[in-house]
Amino acid sequence: MISINENFLKLQAGYLFPEIARRVNLYSSANADAAKSLIRCGIGDVTEPLPLTAREAFKAGVDELGSSETFRGYGPEQGYDFLREAIAEHAYAGVEVSADEVFVSDGSKCDTSNILDIFGHDNKIGITDPVYPVYVDTNVMAGHTGDADESGSYEGLYYLECNKDNGFVPSIPDEALDIIYLCYPNNPTGAVATREQLEAWVAYALKHKAILLYDAAYEAFIQDDSVPHSIYEIEGARDCAIEFRSFSKNGGFTGVRCAYTIVPKTLTAKTSAGEEVTLHSLWQRRQSTKFNGVSYPVQKAAAALFTPEGKAEIGALIANYMENAQLLSDACKAVGLTVYGGENAPYVWIACPEGLDSWGAFDLFLEKAQVVITPGSGFGKGGEGYFRISAFNSRSNVEEVCKRITNLFN
Ligand SMILES: *Cc1c(COP(=O)(O)O)cnc(C)c1O
Repeated sequence: MISINENFLKLQAGYLFPEIARRVNLYSSANADAAKSLIRCGIGDVTEPLPLTAREAFKAGVDELGSSETFRGYGPEQGYDFLREAIAEHAYAGVEVSADEVFVSDGSKCDTSNILDIFGHDNKIGITDPVYPVYVDTNVMAGHTGDADESGSYEGLYYLECNKDNGFVPSIPDEALDIIYLCYPNNPTGAVATREQLEAWVAYALKHKAILLYDAAYEAFIQDDSVPHSIYEIEGARDCAIEFRSFSKNGGFTGVRCAYTIVPKTLTAKTSAGEEVTLHSLWQRRQSTKFNGVSYPVQKAAAALFTPEGKAEIGALIANYMENAQLLSDACKAVGLTVYGGENAPYVWIACPEGLDSWGAFDLFLEKAQVVITPGSGFGKGGEGYFRISAFNSRSNVEEVCKRITNLFN
């Protein structure tokens, strides 16, 4: 008889999005007419088409595979040099990251999950609350937690509270954690971490020989010049941080799939016997064994985003989404709601109207405005009392949502 990984049974049944779907379906079947005008501002997926530069490079890459002179089979597991070099040169201009520290992959979701392969099972794991649920669930699957309590918090994880008082950036903990997940600009709160806050986290990590897993999937949305785009802008971070970035949100690659992870060669950890090992060599080995690289046309498409034309197209996409965020944020403020985020991230994070919790706000928007938002409590108990509106939407939908918000509260 086989046994299964029973850690999966500890997972809370993917509560957030199924529950949103259940409530939307219930409402739609009872109000078929009103439901026709439903606008979804819930899911964090891009809406604008793939940039032309990327599409052309993508197609040219496919054509190369169609001729025997330029056909390619398996590529290097870590990514083609042309893309690794473009990333080091353009995404890390002025920051010390070399091409062979760049690991190209099919997504940051996978990388932030798979990275657990190179760590032991007895680390103290710190995650922010609210949080991108992938960090939590992958630790549950790996057996790093006990069961969840009724608020959804897992025994064995260290929850780092993010609230309006700390600007949704966790305070430095009193205890020594080993692995800390940080995501800035943040999903779901839209908050950014200042240079000083990141310096404090790097100092903490160096002091306790901890590792920061820094998810910078939204770095391209940073508008404020004083906010670091990379953890490696902070001195010492090469000795304590792994950074994750993705083409999903800046280049509209959510369906194309391409991302990258930086593992500095200076980053080490000790074995139980006290021997120093580079994490770069472990991740290199992990990827070589379990991954066979991203397809050649996709990597060509990603590299094209670093051409001047590609950069201009990304700039226009980001500007468009950030204008959406501004419109949504202004509309909410105008009706007296308290608004966070939305300035350096495509997410607007809003305190629930007086007397409503996250699901109460969800129901209000669904029933009275036919707008689907994301309840903050779905991201952890620290998200209770808030909801998220995504700026990933067409301009016409955003304008309509703004109108409905204005009507809802007047
Ligand atoms: C969208 C997103 C990513 C990107 O994931 P991909 O797998 O590269 O599409 C990473 N982290 C966070 C927090 C995200 O919201």
